[in-house]
Amino acid sequence: MYRLRPLIIAMSITLSTIASAAADKAAPAAKAEAAATNPFAKASTLQYQAPPFDKIKDSDYQPAIEEGMKQQLAEIGKIADNADAPTFANTIEAMEHTGAMLTRSSKVFFALTQANTNDTLQKIQEEEAPKLAAHADAIFLNPKLFARVKSLHESKEIKDPDAKFLIDRYYRNFVRAGAQLSEADKAKLRELNKEESTLATAFQNKLLAATKAGGLVAKDKAEFAGLSSGEIDAAAAAAKERKLDGQWVLPLQNTTQQPAQVELTNRATREKLFKASTERTEHGDANDTRATIVRLAQLRAEKAKLLGYPTYAAYSLDDQMAKTPEHAIKLMTDMVPAAVAKAKGEADKMQALVDKQGGKFKLAPWDWQYYAEQVRKAEYDLDESKIKPYFELDRVLHDGVFFAANKLYGLTFKERKDIPVYQPDVRVFEVFDADGKSMAFWYADYYKRDNKAGGAWMDSFVDQSGLLGTKPVVFNVCNFTKPAAGQPALLTFDDVTTMFHEFGHALHGMFSNVKYPTLAGTNTTRDFVEFPSQFNEHWASEPSVFANYAKHYQTGEPMPAELLAKIKAARTFNQGFATTEYLAAALLDQAWHTIPPGSDKKDVDKFEAEALKQFNIDYALVPPRYRTSYFAHIWGGGYSAGYYAYLWSEVLDDDAYYWFKENGGMTRENGQRFRDMILSRGSTQEMDVLYRNFRGRDPSVEPLLEERGLKTEKSDAPKTDEKKAK
Ligand SMILES: [Zn+2]
Repeated sequence: MYRLRPLIIAMSITLSTIASAAADKAAPAAKAEAAATNPFAKASTLQYQAPPFDKIKDSDYQPAIEEGMKQQLAEIGKIADNADAPTFANTIEAMEHTGAMLTRSSKVFFALTQANTNDTLQKIQEEEAPKLAAHADAIFLNPKLFARVKSLHESKEIKDPDAKFLIDRYYRNFVRAGAQLSEADKAKLRELNKEESTLATAFQNKLLAATKAGGLVAKDKAEFAGLSSGEIDAAAAAAKERKLDGQWVLPLQNTTQQPAQVELTNRATREKLFKASTERTEHGDANDTRATIVRLAQLRAEKAKLLGYPTYAAYSLDDQMAKTPEHAIKLMTDMVPAAVAKAKGEADKMQALVDKQGGKFKLAPWDWQYYAEQVRKAEYDLDESKIKPYFELDRVLHDGVFFAANKLYGLTFKERKDIPVYQPDVRVFEVFDADGKSMAFWYADYYKRDNKAGGAWMDSFVDQSGLLGTKPVVFNVCNFTKPAAGQPALLTFDDVTTMFHEFGHALHGMFSNVKYPTLAGTNTTRDFVEFPSQFNEHWASEPSVFANYAKHYQTGEPMPAELLAKIKAARTFNQGFATTEYLAAALLDQAWHTIPPGSDKKDVDKFEAEALKQFNIDYALVPPRYRTSYFAHIWGGGYSAGYYAYLWSEVLDDDAYYWFKENGGMTRENGQRFRDMILSRGSTQEMDVLYRNFRGRDPSVEPLLEERGLKTEKSDAPKTDEKKAK
């Protein structure tokens, strides 16, 4: 996934010096000095302005963010109060230059609150989130500033298409943020925004605490029977980290289904683990998220009404590719019957297996992965534990992810141990373009930690901009199980796919070649942003790439042809399950965000059950990928009313992949074309136009149905993975 920033205005690195700002507020000498030595006060002197993590202390963030907001408001004030008539340069371009210190500090701060948080950072986040919401409002609800933007929007004199496009973007952002409301309604909106940001932060912190406290603890190793010795060691290490020496802990992954279910032979343990997962935030304690969610859904509906939309989803999708919730919902509900039917077929096979083994029980959701794995073994003779030794993290990275980027785009990589990081497991790579010129930094933070949010994502410390003269500094965060000391990190194919996915986002950020930061890199619509990442997943199973990285970690032997053939044969295996659990979550998101304002939804679980029923996706054996109470994407992660975006983007990514298949496949030339027409363009054009230019037509849903095995005709796509929404 891609993490969306709470700040909407793009900002720059050029700024008035901190000394004069400190003088302005007549701060005591000590305070002024502290501000001047704050590592965020000036642009980092490290290459590409990489964050100076060796100098940044937890105590630096809050003063930097506060000072950053103050500086930006002063800069914005000057633009709004300018006596000269508005021009593109003195208004729009000027705004692109504001807020440098705030951008610098908040980008690092929010990266860390997600990937490496602690009590201090969480407390700062709780205090600053509503202030940042108020700060954005102070800019977007400034009537003098909006008057300038509006007059430029209406001006017939501006001819430059890039300038016109950016003005239009600003105008839309202001209107969507409430710039046209009455003063009384603006005041209401400010209150709602503040409350929303406070509640979203509260949700994130509750979920993190619940996940940290949750998981499954075993006093007897026998409960974890079925796990490999490496995994048992990791469970012992996880227990030690929680000061539960001599015990074993399975920490929770963010999704409903837990990866360990595949291996756990003890049915009672599987049930316990399932319940620990699905009820993680429903214990009626301080970490229970349900009351927070009820209020969040309600206030979003109120906010939408204030802004003139029938529902929050209608508001949210109005500036997306999908345009309306009806379009997004239709794409999904059209797929529900085929997905559920396929899942039911999968369940029947598993029930038959249970019966054959004399199980005498009805398949339950906690049995799904365990028996699915057995069916997979029986039908395809495919065993996850036999596959993993061929996916060693470092080899996948260098000989897979980097190798593919080299073949398509000519990139090369060099690890930089001299660039400071925020945690010892984080690695930094310098990225070189096809002509050998250095072009970006890329950070990788791959291992799961208790102070890291669940899932995987990409974001940036510095965005590319021609105007500001900045190069991209981007990062990927994942949650792969950290091996015990001295052991290799062996991945599942799902993990491998995740690496390619997040690196696809990184490429989108690193190839950005635009002038204005607002339009740079991954700053696209949400239902487009997953396109480059999901597109990049396809190369994980491209034969020439796969053969290059899928080698045994001990012997270096390539994966045997028959094992590879089996993986290929199993490519649409369990897709009924994967599609159904995704659709259930995405439709649940739409249900929560299409409630009318003023309705009273007090019972979260009842609402969830009814919504799933309404969309005919209430299939008990396949619960939503995320249940409402731990659905971080929509309550804390910026994907509210937007979880459908993965499927929407998947239509694009499969369709674009088929363009490659139709045009000679994985060639340097095709890669360059994709880079030039999609990856380097940010959002300098409407997304549908950008796509049409590349494809020569509108996107077609057919390749997706084929890839997921939801079409009746047999597909001959060279696909080896089980595609799964992130
Ligand atoms: Zn993504």
